[in-house]
Amino acid sequence: MRCPFCGHDETKVVDSRVSESQEAIRRRRECLACTQRFTTYERREEVPLMVVKKDGSRQPFDRMKLFQGLAVATAKRDVTAEQIEALIDDIEAELHNTFKYEISTKQLGDMVLMRLKELDKVAYVRFASVYKEFSDLDEFTWELKNLK
Ligand SMILES: [Zn+2]
Repeated sequence: MRCPFCGHDETKVVDSRVSESQEAIRRRRECLACTQRFTTYERREEVPLMVVKKDGSRQPFDRMKLFQGLAVATAKRDVTAEQIEALIDDIEAELHNTFKYEISTKQLGDMVLMRLKELDKVAYVRFASVYKEFSDLDEFTWELKNLK
């Protein structure tokens, strides 16, 4: 670990502890050349979120793709891009907080629909129809009936 003060590449660890959030290990290091101290953090590598399709294949969660789907669903409705971003942020945060790294297309669709229902009823129906291929027809009809 190169010293940020003098560029020397030998340091010793003088203290090591788990950060308050429990998410990182914090190390105090001392440069063996100039004796200046600095801190390094060791963190878990972010695990990419995977979406499991109906046929069992997996693909990385594509935020852009979801955004585009939601943009279509909310076209000409009173829903802003910021609101769509916030909706996706909310889903990502929920998955993150529950340590879910894999989600089925259906589960993801349900999470979107749950939020769209509160945001815009028309967009909700449109999105449900986009995702109807992932559930059966009865379910889709049931969704439509529940709207009124
Ligand atoms: Zn140094």
